[in-house]
Formats: sequence, structure tokens, C-alpha cells
Amino acid sequence: MGRQEEFVLRTIEERDIRFVRLWFTDVLGFLKSVAVAPAELEAAFAEGIGFDGSAIEGFARVSESDMLAKPDPATFQLLPWRSEGPGTARMFCDILMPDGTPSFADPRYVLKRALSRGAELGFSFYTHPEIEFFLFERGLAPDGQPVPVDSAGYFDNTPHGVGHDFRRQAITMLEAMGISVEFSHHEGAPGQQEIDLRYADALTTADNIMTFRLVMKQVALEQGVNASFMPKPFTDFPGSGMHTHLSLFEGDRNAFYEAGGPYQLSKVGRSFIAGVLRHAAEITAVTNQWVNSYKRLSGGGEAPNYICWGHNNRSALVRVPMYKPQKGGSTRVEIRSPDTATNPYLAFALLLAAGLKGIEEEYPLPEGAEDDVWSLTDSERRALGIVPLPTSLDEAIRAMEGSELVAETLGEHVFDFFLRNKRQEWSDYRRQVTAFELDRMLPVL
Ligand code: GLN
Ligand code: MG
Ligand code: MG
Ligand code: MG
Repeated sequence: MGRQEEFVLRTIEERDIRFVRLWFTDVLGFLKSVAVAPAELEAAFAEGIGFDGSAIEGFARVSESDMLAKPDPATFQLLPWRSEGPGTARMFCDILMPDGTPSFADPRYVLKRALSRGAELGFSFYTHPEIEFFLFERGLAPDGQPVPVDSAGYFDNTPHGVGHDFRRQAITMLEAMGISVEFSHHEGAPGQQEIDLRYADALTTADNIMTFRLVMKQVALEQGVNASFMPKPFTDFPGSGMHTHLSLFEGDRNAFYEAGGPYQLSKVGRSFIAGVLRHAAEITAVTNQWVNSYKRLSGGGEAPNYICWGHNNRSALVRVPMYKPQKGGSTRVEIRSPDTATNPYLAFALLLAAGLKGIEEEYPLPEGAEDDVWSLTDSERRALGIVPLPTSLDEAIRAMEGSELVAETLGEHVFDFFLRNKRQEWSDYRRQVTAFELDRMLPVL
């Protein structure tokens, strides 16, 4: 047993932990949890805990359903909302096949594979997500709409508001779990909040995002409200994005930074952006995986819908934030399409793979978009070579189907499952008769 495992077992004893939750994530990005008694942990560390994978979205066919969850001791944390009475802790797990080899269905393994591809080229990958979400009252309005907890807007200071107390308690809980928060504020829509996590290596960030979603739900429960990560709950207000800042490091040197380069970007940084842009359409089905995600992307509210990049241009898909001369280490690119309901492991794996492809193939960076691309006409955009992101889940699926990059990065199992699942979602949606049609048609036809 390694030192980390020993540390976990000792802490469990000292802190009187009675339950240890083993966490993992299904292909669609839902957190799964199985609680084990501390006595089981030694075996879990050695060979994993067996479970039936056939009932987990995307994991196994019935004929090969036995799988193992092997806890990663580096992710051990006490759960602060269970601090009274016997304690509870959690660890993220790697999913293994019965013979002990990694499961190709495990999103964490998909990301680990992409990260080791990066490491082979000498890069480590860091991410910093800006997570937006809504706080709603319990229950729905008579018209079936969710009810936001306030009617405040962007950066509004509402010292007595629900959002203010909520953010304070949520951040306290995140920090108690070792997750550092950089900024938090009220976002543009009523009831909408944003909390930005401090940058970390992409695997840690993806784990942290999974923890974040649960912590927000937990704090909401305690405060008598609901937290929602639905990308676009309202037709007339902005949706919830998860803009993510990306950077590559070579050792402790930021590989995107070059003093005096255009926008202080190195060639590596420029080709990385070019890779993300060239493969943007193919990876959109993952960064924006729900029918509802496309209501956000085509609904204004500062969500991107054209494939271009810009310097401080909030209409662009990729933005290079303002350069801070004293902080060469902070050079990064912000990708603005992902929403808060993406599977962070798969999304980060694909963003990294797209960027690395750009670096390896030395893609040239197209001209940046200086203008607000929303204010241009279609033909002006065409002249600039700016094409739209997929406008529906259907278009995104079609772009993904033909993508070698996505197939390779996700692996055949996840690629096939994902496409099958999303085609089903689209065909279920397509046959719905919506309120939009009834409202427009019944009065006149
Ligand atoms: N909510 C917007 C989106 O969906 C972003 C708003 C902002 O952070 N400026 O992307
Ligand atoms: Mg922000
Ligand atoms: Mg925001
Ligand atoms: Mg942003």
C-alpha cells in the first residue's frame, strides 16, 4: 500500500469516518456514488470494488457488466455537509474491467489518455472554469416556468438577497473541500449566479466541477431553494455557460506566452487556438450535449454562435483575455461555447486533443475577428471566412459523426454510445409538438 492510501486509512480512523463514498461519472456527465464501509477500503485500493456496470449510462453491455471502481486516494475529502454525527468522506474512482485493465467507458480515463498524449509532447494542460447556474424557488409557477430567487442582474450587489448568502455558504463549503474559488458574482439573468474556480490541472478541475455541481445542489437544499445547471431555462434571459480558460505548461513555463509575440501569444498558443477553431464544430456535440444547449447558443446573451477568435471580443468563440504585462504566466485562451451541463472530462479531453492537433500539424491561426461578429451581415461574415457553430443537436451530431479526432480521443466505445444516445434524444425531441406551435397555430388554423 502506498503512502496516500495509508494516509486515507489513518484519517478515517482518526476522524471516525463511517461511510466512504466512491464517486465516478457516467458518459453523460452524471455523478454516481456508492458508499462503502471503511473496512472495505483496503480491498478497494488493492483491486477495486465490484459493481454492475450495465445500469450505468454508457458503461457496459449486459453481457460484460461486471466492473470495478478503484478509488484514487489523492482525491480523498471529508464531506463538510455531513459534519454532525458519524463522518462521511469521498474519493473519485477509476473504473476497471474485471481483469484490472482500465475501462474504455470511463470518462476519467478518456481525459487521462488525452493528458498523457499532451505529456508525450511535453505539455501539461490547465483549465479554469467560470461556472454559471440558476437558483430557483422550490416548485414551478402556474404557467410551468421555474421561478428565479431574485430579479437582480450582472454584478448586482444584493447583500440581503438569497444569491449573496448562497454564494458565501457555497464558497465556504467548496474551500472546506480544498477547491479554491477565484471570483463569484450575480450573473445577467434573474436568479443566475457565477462562481469561477481557480485554475488547476485539467483532471483536478474536472473532478472539482463534479464536486461543485453536487455542493451547489446541497447548499440549495439547505437554503430551501434549487440550483439548476440547465443550459437555457428561459427564452428571454441568457443561459448558463461554462467558459473555460485553457493553458499549456512546459514544466513551469507557460507555453502560450511569448514576450513580443502577437497578443503575447507563442506559436504553440496560436496553433492551439487554430486547432480548437478548426475542430470546433466536431466537438460541439460534447461541449453542448443537450437539445436545450442549442437554445443557449442561438439565444444571444453573450453565448457564442460563430467559429472565430478575438482579443477581448465577447462575441467570439475563443477569446484571448487582455494581456497583463506583469503576468506572463497567465497567458491563456478562453473558450466560450461549453455549457454547465457538459461532461467536463470529455469536454476537456476534446479541447486538448483539438489544440494539440493544431500544434502538431502547425495549423496557421486565421485572422482574429476585430468586430462584434453578431453585428455583421451573413455575407460580411462569409467574406471573413466565419462559419456558424452547429445550430442544433442534430447538426452537432452530424459534425461529430465524421470526426476522426473525436473518435480517436473518446475511443470507439464512448464515441458509439454517445452518438447513439444523442441520436435518440434528437429523435425524441423532433416528434414533440411544442407550446410554440400550439400558441401560434391554434388561434389561426
Ligand atoms: N451567460 C453567458 C453564456 O451563456 C455568458 C455571460 C458572461 O459571462 N458574460 O455564455
Ligand atoms: Mg465570468
Ligand atoms: Mg459569466
Ligand atoms: Mg468569461
